[in-house]
Amino acid sequence: MTGGAGFVGSHLCERLVAQGHDVICVDNFFTSQKSNIQHLLGRANFELVRHDVTHPLWLEVDQIFNLACPAAPGHYQYNPVKTLKTSVLGAINVLGMAKRCRARVVQASTSEVYGDPAVHPQPERYWGHVNPIGPRACYDEGKRAAETLFFDYHRMHRMPIKVVRIFNTYGPRMHPFDGRVVSNFIRQALAGEEITIMGDGRQTRSFCYVDDLVDGLIAMMATPEDCTGPINLGNPVEFTIRGLAEMCIELTGSRSTIVQRPAATDDPRQRQPDITLARRTLKWEPKVPLREGLARTIAWFRSIRLEDYRAPTPNF
Ligand code: NAD
Ligand code: UDP
Repeated sequence: MTGGAGFVGSHLCERLVAQGHDVICVDNFFTSQKSNIQHLLGRANFELVRHDVTHPLWLEVDQIFNLACPAAPGHYQYNPVKTLKTSVLGAINVLGMAKRCRARVVQASTSEVYGDPAVHPQPERYWGHVNPIGPRACYDEGKRAAETLFFDYHRMHRMPIKVVRIFNTYGPRMHPFDGRVVSNFIRQALAGEEITIMGDGRQTRSFCYVDDLVDGLIAMMATPEDCTGPINLGNPVEFTIRGLAEMCIELTGSRSTIVQRPAATDDPRQRQPDITLARRTLKWEPKVPLREGLARTIAWFRSIRLEDYRAPTPNF
């Protein structure tokens, strides 16, 4: 698993190790830290390799989850050229290794390939509405190019590739300073600080609890060889950002007030996955409602010491 020490990756490593798989976690710790996978380090079927996927890898494996890429806007905009390299060179290196090992490979793509969508909810057949030269393009276009590479390797070399488009996912081990909306709102609410809504708060997102996403990723890996995707993975229940802020205040019992800040450039106005294909192909759908997932995430945020986390990028 590349990016295995990250938020999603650490949960997926944990699950696969528990299932008895031999897991190699490859990560350069750009947006994560060892504490995410510390509890796995003593396990005989878990191995950690510090490596940057923009450089070739040489490992013997039969399945690959390619998750390495900064995912939060503040993280991927910190060094946009590096973000593109991670998506594109990372895909090339991972696909080269998969070809040599004849491994099947799942690519963690994103709802950002739909950009600021003109179709709602977003089905996989929608080609998207992405600004190719804006500040989000390094991530969106990097992930789109990675999808192209996956499908070209599949067509050229008959490789068993699998692409999932992940929608906003949250849960324990999100980096507390990643600037994403769930981590920001919970951290702000617990500290009694102002909750910062960017824009008018009427923009929407649909939030998937990480355990549900892990179920979907594992189901995708288990599909027959000819199932390439892309398949959307996300929770289809849509919330406004203001609604999320109010729920965070309520669930933390906070006295925080809500303030408005300028909207982010190219911020998608609405986002909701159409998961018809995932329901049909993977027999998968999310089970954890936002209220319950948030309560678990808040409990985790209460349990950590913020000083153990370095803000890798300016916190905004
Ligand atoms: P994350 O930042 O917590 O994890 C990414 C991991 O990749 C980190 O451990 C980071 O150190 C590592 N990494 C980054 N660049 C690397 C490089 N060059 N070489 C090796 N490792 C590198 O983010 P996440 O939320 O866990 O996202 C995991 C994957 O899922 C990403 O590919 C992301 O694009 C995708 N995704 C996530 C979401 C979400 O809401 N969490 C939504 C859509 C897509
Ligand atoms: N957002 C916000 N306040 C914050 C952080 C984010 O209002 O402190 C908004 C952001 O502008 C966007 C939404 O919440 O409209 C989701 O942002 P996030 O960075 O979590 O993920 P995105 O879906 O944009 O990649």
